[in-house]
Amino acid sequence: MGEAAATTPAWIQLGYLVAAVCFILALKALSSPRTARVGNLIGAAGATLAVLLTFVAARPQHLWAILGAIALGAVAGVVAARRVVMTAMPQLVAIFNGVGGAAAALVALIEVGELGSTGTAARIATAFTVLVGAVSFSGSAVTFGKLQALLPGRPIVVPQVRYVYGGALVVTLAAAVVLILTGSTIVGVILAVLALGVGVLLVLPVGGADVPIVISLLNAFTGLSVAASGYLLGNTLLLVAGTLVGAAGSLLTRLMAQAMGRRVTTILFGALLGTSTQGRTVESTRPVKSAGPDDIAVLLGYARRVVVVPGYGLAVAQAQHALKELADALAARGIEVVYAIHPVAGRMPGHMNVLLAEANVPYEQLAEMDAVNPEFPATDVALVVGANDVVNPAARKPFGSPIAGMPILDVDQAKAVVFLKRSMRPGFAGIENDLLYNPKTTLLFGDAKESLTKLVAALKAV
Ligand code: NDP
Repeated sequence: MGEAAATTPAWIQLGYLVAAVCFILALKALSSPRTARVGNLIGAAGATLAVLLTFVAARPQHLWAILGAIALGAVAGVVAARRVVMTAMPQLVAIFNGVGGAAAALVALIEVGELGSTGTAARIATAFTVLVGAVSFSGSAVTFGKLQALLPGRPIVVPQVRYVYGGALVVTLAAAVVLILTGSTIVGVILAVLALGVGVLLVLPVGGADVPIVISLLNAFTGLSVAASGYLLGNTLLLVAGTLVGAAGSLLTRLMAQAMGRRVTTILFGALLGTSTQGRTVESTRPVKSAGPDDIAVLLGYARRVVVVPGYGLAVAQAQHALKELADALAARGIEVVYAIHPVAGRMPGHMNVLLAEANVPYEQLAEMDAVNPEFPATDVALVVGANDVVNPAARKPFGSPIAGMPILDVDQAKAVVFLKRSMRPGFAGIENDLLYNPKTTLLFGDAKESLTKLVAALKAV
């Protein structure tokens, strides 16, 4: 607590301040794709400085064990980050986030034994860190399962969820109070186990549009638990870094919830209020209209305005360069091309922006949902490349679907709609998309990269 901070030499405190400034500069730089790479490096430099200073300041007893653990973690992190395919990046981020929460909770559990008769504030910080860190860990693990398709993306509702979740919340909060009153390590461990259960129950019923919001919420949780552990250890830098992550995560959660027409309380307590929605996959036998690349090329070649709607399938197919090639070929014919970006398209915030930036698509051609939606009636072709949920009109229904109430891109207002996808399988939310059966929709079946390459070739003959 404050004591430890007071005994830390001034030059180490100064070093911590430099590291904190690095974190703030890193956050600033990360806010734009142009400077994000530099931001990452600045953040990593700050973290390295902080770790080195902590070794010098604390002179830990079990030096070799700590160095061994760091080496193990570093190797696992580097291998995972290098090997991960771009499409699995969101789940890697989810699990890294969860591990941060678990680390904070474990530190707090160790500290419980050291608390002795110290003040109530330290015990509150301990209970908070254990509770929130453990929720963040198990919640992130379930999110990882959903993103990795180990668990269904649609909401999973346990029987009597209202009572199970409500009961778990009450018992967990009671354990936190007992921990604050007694400072007992055993109660700390019980609290951690209960909180792990709450994290699972929190995320299981979340589906479709709400998953991205819950990811940033868990991120905020990890930040807050790390900040509380910083207070506990008397480490100002940990406090600052945790607060930064907590604040950034909270802001992102709020912004995403606003963009998705959701309330954060509904996501946190939706299962308790019985408002969580359950998806239903309907096998349809309705006919769809499909065509080959030549026909679609004619449709595109004679359009005046084409709005491209990229989605998760673009990332799966790694078709961003082929898409840019098609857009350039259309632009060369004098056709206006705009990319419509939905806030939760893909599997992580900003996924489409990153992907399109990789293919050097100019930022000016990207249009956000609110800006592009009024323009759809004046659009000749909406070209949906690997997107599904973000254009699904089921979202317009007030309830009964995991994406109910989510704002969508109004592609059904365009004069014609073309879908590039491989099959009739649904998107992440696991629900059928009526737009696929709309008479103005044409499907071009196949991998997006292959279809786009064929379209570029076919367009030359139009
Ligand atoms: P969806 O998951 O709804 O749809 C993806 C589509 O891509 C499917 O129709 C799939 O159909 C198609 N597809 C997959 N692979 C290929 C391929 N190789 N070539 C062509 N098509 C392909 O994606 P959206 O982007 O529309 O929606 C995102 C969803 O993910 C939302 O529900 C959102 O809430 C959720 N989510 C978003 C996060 C975020 O932060 N952005 C995080 C977590 C979840 P087929 O298999 O037939 O090819």
